[in-house]
Amino acid sequence: MSSDDADDTRKPIPERFHSFETGRPFEACSVCSRAFGEDEPYMIEKAFQRGETVYEYAICQGCHDGIRAELSEESKKRIEEHLGEAVGRAGLFDDPLERCVFSGRELGDEYLVCGLFVGRWMVPDLPRFAISGEEMEKLAGLLSKTTRERLDEFTDDVLGIPGLTNPVPVLV
Ligand SMILES: [Zn+2]
Repeated sequence: MSSDDADDTRKPIPERFHSFETGRPFEACSVCSRAFGEDEPYMIEKAFQRGETVYEYAICQGCHDGIRAELSEESKKRIEEHLGEAVGRAGLFDDPLERCVFSGRELGDEYLVCGLFVGRWMVPDLPRFAISGEEMEKLAGLLSKTTRERLDEFTDDVLGIPGLTNPVPVLV
């Protein structure tokens, strides 16, 4: 398969992952403000409550690694195990964003979506999944106190939402 064929499997980033603020796809990292390169992988997470965007961010690999380096090893291990298994399961759903990756149930009023993208594209093999509000709380329960504090700082500084109850465990 030539690299041109591989490119054909890429799709534009779906609207659900566009920035609510600009109405367009994210173009830069929410942490360091650097524009994403054409072939650069990065993560987007968006949380919704009754159809409204609660928070959203896109984060480059460098910033993500920087935050992870400050988190506790046990937290990372627990989240990785919990999430790794579930994300494998999301591949079995017709649409990985229709159901909660942990419970397999419908998402309800409160949920988040998370995905890895490259440049302006959605690449089929990269993970995308959704987590219901209920399961987000369980995930947050797996975090150590230090890790929670670091993630609270992130939600405060980057998202501008102090005291968010479910602090972005997906970043771990
Ligand atoms: Zn960055």
